Amino acid sequence: MLGKLARYLRMCGYDAAYALDRGIEADDQLQNLAREEERLLITRKRSLAHRLEQSVLVESKEILEQLGELRESGFRIGLAEKSARCGNCNGRLQKLPAEFDRPAHAPAEGPVWQCDECDQLFWKGSHWETVRQRLSAV
Ligand SMILES: [Zn+2]
Repeated sequence: MLGKLARYLRMCGYDAAYALDRGIEADDQLQNLAREEERLLITRKRSLAHRLEQSVLVESKEILEQLGELRESGFRIGLAEKSARCGNCNGRLQKLPAEFDRPAHAPAEGPVWQCDECDQLFWKGSHWETVRQRLSAV
């Protein structure tokens, strides 16, 4: 339900697990997982939010408004330059050494990071800039 929000939170440096990535959908399972991993549950389901003390209810269906709601709840919303996580899988990003062979479509300069889980490469390209601008408008 909140997959897009999870991706944004990862780019903001949050360790954001997405329940559907783990094949979890039922309220009981969500509740157990949040407890076991000591996670704060972000949900749009009022009934679920009420069942768990460590939860945040977001009401909007729109991504920027959801991020705004989280900001109001005390989340730091902004790109995490040093501690961003992989938007795809929540893995940690490692900065690649300078001698690393850059992919042809990467910019000629600037750091490249690699996800330690899914190996995806990241750099500050046009997508990064778009996200940065979106987040600064939240
Ligand atoms: Zn990854």
